[in-house]
Amino acid sequence: MSKTPSAKATVKTACPYCGVGCGVVATTNNDGNIEVSGDKQHPANFGKLCSKGLALADTLNDDGRLLHPTIEGASVSWDVATSQIASSLKNTIREFGSESIGFYVSGQLLTEDYYVVNKFVKGWLGTANIDTNSRLCMASSVAGHKRAFGTDTVPGCYEDLDSAELIVLVGSNLAWCHPVLYQRIMDTKAKRPELTVVVIDPRNSITASNADLHLQIQPDGDTLLFNALLHHLHTQGATDTSYIDQHVEGFDQALAQAATAFSPQLSEQLGVSKDELEQFFTLFTRIQKTITVYSQGVNQSRTGTDKVSAIINCHLATGRIGKPGMGPFSITGQPNAMGGREVGGLATMLACHRDLENTDHQAQVQTFWQSPAIANKPGLTAVDMFRAVQSGKLKAIWIMATNPVDSLPEADTALDALKRCPLVIVSEVTRNSDTLACANIALPAQAFGEKEGTVTNSERRISRQRRIKTPAGEAMPDWWAISRVAQKMGYTDAFNYETPAQIFTEYAALSAFENEGTVDFNIGGCADLSDDEYNTLAPFQWPCLEKPATNNSVAIRFFGAGQFYTPDKRARMISVQNAIPGNNTLSDSYPLILNTGRIRDQWHTMTRTGYIPRLMGHRAEPFIEINPSDALIHGIKDADIVQIDSQNNKVLARSMLSDRQTPGQVFIPMHWSSQFASLGRVNTLVEAHTDPTSRQPAFKNQAVSIRRFAASSYAFLLTRQQPYFADNEPPEYWASAPLDEGWRSEVASSLSLDELTAQLTRAAYHPCEPDSAEIPSPWQPLEYTGNNSRRLALFEPYGRLYAMLYVSTSSVELSRSWAMTLLTKRYESLQTRWQLMAGRAPSDQPDKGAIVCSCFSVGDKEIVRSIRNDGCCTVDKVGKKLSAGTNCGSCRNEIDVLIKRYQATDQSIPTH
Ligand code: SF4
Repeated sequence: MSKTPSAKATVKTACPYCGVGCGVVATTNNDGNIEVSGDKQHPANFGKLCSKGLALADTLNDDGRLLHPTIEGASVSWDVATSQIASSLKNTIREFGSESIGFYVSGQLLTEDYYVVNKFVKGWLGTANIDTNSRLCMASSVAGHKRAFGTDTVPGCYEDLDSAELIVLVGSNLAWCHPVLYQRIMDTKAKRPELTVVVIDPRNSITASNADLHLQIQPDGDTLLFNALLHHLHTQGATDTSYIDQHVEGFDQALAQAATAFSPQLSEQLGVSKDELEQFFTLFTRIQKTITVYSQGVNQSRTGTDKVSAIINCHLATGRIGKPGMGPFSITGQPNAMGGREVGGLATMLACHRDLENTDHQAQVQTFWQSPAIANKPGLTAVDMFRAVQSGKLKAIWIMATNPVDSLPEADTALDALKRCPLVIVSEVTRNSDTLACANIALPAQAFGEKEGTVTNSERRISRQRRIKTPAGEAMPDWWAISRVAQKMGYTDAFNYETPAQIFTEYAALSAFENEGTVDFNIGGCADLSDDEYNTLAPFQWPCLEKPATNNSVAIRFFGAGQFYTPDKRARMISVQNAIPGNNTLSDSYPLILNTGRIRDQWHTMTRTGYIPRLMGHRAEPFIEINPSDALIHGIKDADIVQIDSQNNKVLARSMLSDRQTPGQVFIPMHWSSQFASLGRVNTLVEAHTDPTSRQPAFKNQAVSIRRFAASSYAFLLTRQQPYFADNEPPEYWASAPLDEGWRSEVASSLSLDELTAQLTRAAYHPCEPDSAEIPSPWQPLEYTGNNSRRLALFEPYGRLYAMLYVSTSSVELSRSWAMTLLTKRYESLQTRWQLMAGRAPSDQPDKGAIVCSCFSVGDKEIVRSIRNDGCCTVDKVGKKLSAGTNCGSCRNEIDVLIKRYQATDQSIPTH
């Protein structure tokens, strides 16, 4: 393994958050501080980073890390932990067979980790009971690719976005979820305004707001839309008969099915106007250089695979695939979702694009590995795996680098399953996660900046992640932990890895083994890399049959001239059923459709980004976006606490009324966990329905109801440590977020003013031990009792504020941006202490509002004031005045939306 870099070292690595796969440069200064910037040479981002990427340096510390292996909560050595796991797995296999064990891994794993765990499970345990959280992200794209191309391959590359003339974004809030790619498109559009961007999404997302055309279709209307488009292309003579004749099977059948999509009711079924449909069809028909980018809105559906096929059909029928500026383009959510697909991380595949149920491929992999067994039938996929844990069919599960207790649909089923499971092993970076709380054995894993290996981004580009800092505590790489367990189970030689380079070169050799051009994934050119060459490996795209060059930005495409990976080398157009858009489970009890998704500054279940103040400043609480007409029907006002119910569970979130939200539909982000809110785990609401082909669960079309949560008392609390509200009777609603110093918490409760005050007073004195009855007092308290409010301030000696509590019978009226600075100040005189108690910001500190620009901490109220009072009528003018949007640029679309909304109207200034 590489040594920790010396001071002033510069390390090139790759961002660990999303599938764009941006190159990052980390510089350790002489004082030990680490700075992060974009890698100008990396072909994925050419120096740009989004707000999350730019905040990576803030994650490079040991706060909150799991530092030592534990068994039932007690620290043990790695030797004891791995021996215990090895003997427990052996005993379980002896008694119940290897099918009684499951592995649930993640697109956060590096390819080397993924390779070793797959080798262990599929080659030595002989089961395919290993699935990855990428099942939740893009399994439908995998299935769609496989049935069209005979292989799971993204045909195009990012460079195509630069030369496309029409970019269609389907089910993708690219501006928030893949910001650097989105900015690349916007930069191109600024240079070439004729580039047309169409967004197809039930949500009027930030991405949709800047599109030339937004088709706000009904949920799950994509198949019907693209089937209708295929029919239209044919009737307009826009299909490429030459390409179809030479390279495509199934055209007639797919077309016959597509023709049934076209009816007089089409626009009504889709929920868009005839004019909008006509515009889209005309654009797609007319413009040859078309890319269709799609993401979770397509994949996370009961019909996700059919949606993918309907999109690919249109590209195959027009021959717009694998050529500059054209093609279907699936963008992945996680940094190494693609690496997981290549390495066989799903329960339905073998390593290196070999098919699990292909006997030749089984033999190739087993021969290469010299393994005692080889998995030959699909294992349990994510949802089914946790159901099997719950039913007792699985007796042991090893979870690596993911948090299924929050991220799976029917999330409480996952929680219940893990509580029942005899053996739960969790490899984690953080010591606080809802899944780790269920672990019998916890293993500290190396985090971003500590581990070494490779990741593949959405354009098939493989990049190195490299070590920046010394690993926290006893944290070790996941591949090391698996190898030690495998060796202790007796599999000594096959798992005697000492470096990630050994693993990567073995993996590369397998990709070339008996390949003969029959399998597209081939990185055999890396099979002979030396340790030095591995350590200095520059980003490269696969396939890679020669040793990669040190500066490799060549764009490789597939299928422009056919040559698909089917037996006859021809692609397959798939005849897909026209799913009826909408939701047929809506009822009087559950009248609204819930859509879930990501927000700009958060990643997954916030285990890293949730602890970074500037990222939490963007949205500090779980929220629900509601159209004002729905809010009126349900008696909800802006910034109310709302209870959302489904047949499964309930969630509490802050209301955000927006006419950008479609009537009849609501949106809640997927990120909040029990670490940050009382009832913010939105996936507890979502029923676990999966696509029949890909087994990917649906997350974006759930029937729910909403109602105002009638609280009797509200509070705003500042504490130096993260408060822990697991009191005997905790407030129903709380949401906490970190500040530069301390934490802020919003609270709403059915307790009386005095009951809530008493409870939160304990939390103020003892943020981490709310049950403590003692009120020790090194602190100097100041209390105020009003008719409808209570206040408490605790001061340390010398006037540093230790905690501040504002409680009220109605929402606490307080400038949050001012309040968030209070813990940073000293209050030595009684006068300043009582000013603090008054809760009024000085007039020279107007409320910033919710943070829009994370880089410069600029809020929406500030921006609106600059629009209204200073005449800032463009994003650049706002930037000049406030600096907002001038660094990473992730917020530029939001600023633009504020300009459009507030420039020419008398809309009131945002309330949150
Ligand atoms: Fe990281 Fe942002 Fe780039 Fe995604 S777009 S890889 S989150 S810097």
